[in-house]
Amino acid sequence: MTETLIASHRGGTHLWPENSPLAFRQTADLPVDYVEFDVHRTSDGVLVVHHDATIDRMTDRKGAIGDMTFAALREALIIGSGGERIPTLEDVCAIFRPSAVDLRLELKNGVDMRRYPGMAAEVAGLLRREGMLERTLVTSFEAGNLSEFRAALDPEAALRGMLWLIARPVLACAGIVGVAAAAQAHGISELGFHIADLDAATVERFTAEGFVIHAWAAHDEGAAERCFSLGVASFTTDRPDIAIGVRDRLQPA
Ligand code: MG
Repeated sequence: MTETLIASHRGGTHLWPENSPLAFRQTADLPVDYVEFDVHRTSDGVLVVHHDATIDRMTDRKGAIGDMTFAALREALIIGSGGERIPTLEDVCAIFRPSAVDLRLELKNGVDMRRYPGMAAEVAGLLRREGMLERTLVTSFEAGNLSEFRAALDPEAALRGMLWLIARPVLACAGIVGVAAAAQAHGISELGFHIADLDAATVERFTAEGFVIHAWAAHDEGAAERCFSLGVASFTTDRPDIAIGVRDRLQPA
């Protein structure tokens, strides 16, 4: 069985303020395989790392990232971070470049689920310039973002992987057959599921179709144990410390 890799979700949301430089510096020092984070774009074209399409929940300001200049965005302080500001994608690359932790980068859409036109290609270009392409697993809940990203790559470009995150209602409505058909139509071979949607039979069916299966939202000990016992390729967790403990018990080095 292949090794199951751990991704610190938003830099360890339940340990530090999500997607903050503080969380990323802490994650860079953890024995995890990936840091998961989310990318949006400001109105003047700066790629920034934040979960929501607005800054309302996590900062002392309000607004939609896609409608704000980078200068306006940088006035906002991340709640609970001791005065830190929303980082750029370049900032995050700089934190992780010297570390052993690779990137699990999620391409986000703006408010009203709008895709940022051309953003996937800009992210691909930035990762190439930063020398981080081969260290990045690109993800999105929207398959179109992945198609745009792939179209922006040189055919011979080395990328760590590309993973379609399957929202729970998508699986509930389309079923295994529908998800597999949609993924194949998009040329996608790696899928990420909520851990509650995965069991051995589901993993087996997708694996038999040639898919590599990942998980997300494995935040407690039981969920992390399920990820290892199902043998998923990787999983995200808000509690990387718990996941590390489970790994060291179940999958000793
Ligand atoms: Mg994410």
